[in-house]
Amino acid sequence: MKLLPLVAAAFLFAGCLALPDGLNVYTSPDGALPDGTYPYGAPLATGRNYYWAPTRTVVLAPNQGVLTRAHELFHAHQHRVILDDLGREPSNINLEEWYLTQEGRSFIVVANAEGGEFAVWQRTTNPTYLEDAANTGAYYLIDPGRLKEIAPLRFALADQWLR
Ligand SMILES: [Zn+2]
Repeated sequence: MKLLPLVAAAFLFAGCLALPDGLNVYTSPDGALPDGTYPYGAPLATGRNYYWAPTRTVVLAPNQGVLTRAHELFHAHQHRVILDDLGREPSNINLEEWYLTQEGRSFIVVANAEGGEFAVWQRTTNPTYLEDAANTGAYYLIDPGRLKEIAPLRFALADQWLR
């Protein structure tokens, strides 16, 4: 396990992703946070990717692809948007207050105009607008041509957020 400086991940991106101060990116083979705790239970045999808002930590299983890394960093970005728009820390780990921000509200409008929540992505166990937006942001940063092809309205919105 090791802590990765965010700057290393940031170089992968074509766009600009506003992130919370003090963000950590941490690789864990079994889903642990840097302090050794397991917020989602475990240890997990296959690890897990998640953003843990209370300590501003992206936790990645080993050997994750750039889309997965960008997806989790986008959740950190959603944290930053909550801080900037609402002027306070998120009140829960699911970052649901992002729906109250300008970015969240405009994303819901655009996603609904383009088939609805998670309509352009393969379904997951948690197909929310928050996850839809994280996929949108990840594709915008890593594979913008693909995003423009499958979801032109989402692409246009991400282009406003992340250029
Ligand atoms: Zn996610």
